[in-house]
Amino acid sequence: MIEFKDPSLMSQYQKLPPTLITICNVIDLLAHHVLGEEHLIVTSIFRPKTTDSGIHSMFRAIDFAIFKESGEEGTLRMAEMINSIYKYDYQRPEMQVANTTLYHGTAPHLHIQVHSNTSAMDAMHLKTLTISLAAQKKNFQPLTGVV
Ligand SMILES: [Zn+2]
Repeated sequence: MIEFKDPSLMSQYQKLPPTLITICNVIDLLAHHVLGEEHLIVTSIFRPKTTDSGIHSMFRAIDFAIFKESGEEGTLRMAEMINSIYKYDYQRPEMQVANTTLYHGTAPHLHIQVHSNTSAMDAMHLKTLTISLAAQKKNFQPLTGVV
């Protein structure tokens, strides 16, 4: 379930482009079924334009807190899953939807961004990915809780 660190984020969330909302729903679904997460916390959406606001100032990015149950490993796994499903911009293949560097900005987080060219993989590839994720789920051992 997607939750918000503070109430103002809820109205900002409504202003996000449909592609980004869909990606958030996919994240929520995968987080629940693959990583066993119950609550995902949105920490930031809109930020006024500054040197480091990036595309947050254009309502094209969202930040999630590090996942509670699966920790940094699960959060990073999510970034990889999202990047295997979504292509940020076919004209700039080096750009990604999910930032795989969790440590950037003020605190570690999962940064998700979209562009008007952002596209999802076709149904056949999605099916292959689903099968591989199901296999990963069986083997997945989050680092959190391991002493
Ligand atoms: Zn961000």
